[in-house]
Amino acid sequence: MTTQPARLTVLAGPTAVGKGTVSADIRARYPQVWLSVSMTTRAPRPGEVDGVHYHFVSAERFEEMVERGELLEWAVVHGRNRYGTPRGPVEERLAAGEPALLEIDLQGARQVRASMPDARFVFLAPPSWDELVRRLVGRGTEDEEERERRLATARVELAAEPEFDHVVVNDDVHRATDELVRLMGLAAG
Ligand code: 5GP
Repeated sequence: MTTQPARLTVLAGPTAVGKGTVSADIRARYPQVWLSVSMTTRAPRPGEVDGVHYHFVSAERFEEMVERGELLEWAVVHGRNRYGTPRGPVEERLAAGEPALLEIDLQGARQVRASMPDARFVFLAPPSWDELVRRLVGRGTEDEEERERRLATARVELAAEPEFDHVVVNDDVHRATDELVRLMGLAAG
């Protein structure tokens, strides 16, 4: 019998496409899927729990991790805060023969492709550009300037779709999550 090596799956996509919602749905409906917890320098939003949604750290602590090579990838997202994937937990998980999932931005996905080209790269796409704009504006948690900045980032990010191995359209979060879990080779409910 041959066993396939455990594989890393990277989920990326434009701003407001719903990556966070897909992550939340995976946590809720697929606790067997190991999802990396990122480091971030941004402040927690209401309801976010340190160590569950992110590891919330100072800029100094983040910098220290970068210098020590403790991050698998990292990026400044929306020209503001820094986000990164702790290397250790991902490597341990894969070494144990278990699949792992990262939900990161496009810059981070490109870094992972450079260092781990065998990973599976999945692009989460909006049903349409208009729908993406609706979601971006509808969320209403950002001011006008921040929204414009995110929209500009989203335009550039959408053009990256052909770089990915698979495209999952986020038309319905449960459906998209089921498709992602199947792509990971795990049984979808
Ligand atoms: P938010 O602040 O809304 O939670 O996330 C903002 C963006 O940061 C999202 O596009 C998300 O995918 C990205 N992000 C979250 N964690 C990481 C990470 O560890 N690395 C990178 N490169 N991006 C991340």
